[in-house]
Amino acid sequence: MGKKNKVYVFDPGTLDYRERVVTWPERLRRGGLWLLGSLLVSIVYLWLYTSVFGLELPKTTLLKKQNAEWNGKMAIMASQMEDCRRRLDALSLRDDGVYRTIFGMTEISRDERLSGLGGVNRYHDLRESDPAGRLYNNLIKLDLLTKMAYVQSKSYDEVDQMARHSGDIAACVPAVPPFYPGIDYHLSSPFGHRDDPVYHYRKMHTGQDFAMAPGNSIYAVGDGVVETVRHDLFGYGNSLIINHGFGYKTRYAHLKMILVQPGQKVCRGDCIAQSGNSGKSTGPHLHFEVIYKGNYVNPFNYMDLQIPLDEYAQMVKAREEQTGLSSDLVQPVHKDRKTIRNRGKK
Ligand SMILES: [Zn+2]
Repeated sequence: MGKKNKVYVFDPGTLDYRERVVTWPERLRRGGLWLLGSLLVSIVYLWLYTSVFGLELPKTTLLKKQNAEWNGKMAIMASQMEDCRRRLDALSLRDDGVYRTIFGMTEISRDERLSGLGGVNRYHDLRESDPAGRLYNNLIKLDLLTKMAYVQSKSYDEVDQMARHSGDIAACVPAVPPFYPGIDYHLSSPFGHRDDPVYHYRKMHTGQDFAMAPGNSIYAVGDGVVETVRHDLFGYGNSLIINHGFGYKTRYAHLKMILVQPGQKVCRGDCIAQSGNSGKSTGPHLHFEVIYKGNYVNPFNYMDLQIPLDEYAQMVKAREEQTGLSSDLVQPVHKDRKTIRNRGKK
């Protein structure tokens, strides 16, 4: 103890060492100076290490490594979600292009499929703490996937419902001619663009004309409900529209007599009218339209004029037995062939 409190100082006068006692304040001051010195050296060392030589502290290296790992995981998540999005996109395309089309259902627009997204941004706070936006972008993408999957599964539910009634579709589409093909008839104005016979300008002919004597029985070409019945002096004259569902409607025009009422349910083979020459017509004929999803389409895309006559007759007979009503399959009386030939244009 005594030894530590003393130092020996060389005295040039006596050429000898003499003892000197070190006081406490002196010791404290020395200790403080030593500490300060060490601190300065450390700071200079740190500065040289990080700023001048550009080296990293072990802690920084560790954090950077962890950060890189997380970024990697986020990137993997992002690419997996992108993969899912592409698959969902493909599903929705097939859904609209195949399944919904088969059943005549309207397509689901892209806006509808993504509706509900945007608006209030519930990840707004996250955006500030995550400037690179990796987590933020992934969460947004996840929301998108959730929404797309929800809309898709709902759509499949609808398609499933339609598929359960797919037997009805076969009964509803306009698959047979609207008259017994055994009668005396001929094809007059076809579907498509043509010169108007009355006003002499090119216009779209929205249906197929069948020239035939007035009074021939006209039959429903598929199951459905009578949508409208009209009695116009011009245009279609006496006409009716049947809504078959699944996107299909058929129109029968220039009729002489209409045997059904709006709202009435009809089946394929039911007699609904008699052919005539009413409205804007240059001769007795049936103007027949098929409307699919609001667009006029060529009736010959659907019906088969070559249907065996006995098959058609059986279909009508079966319906007549069901309804208790009867119709004339063949209209034998009309002799004046001239009114039929070369005429019959809407
Ligand atoms: Zn026509």
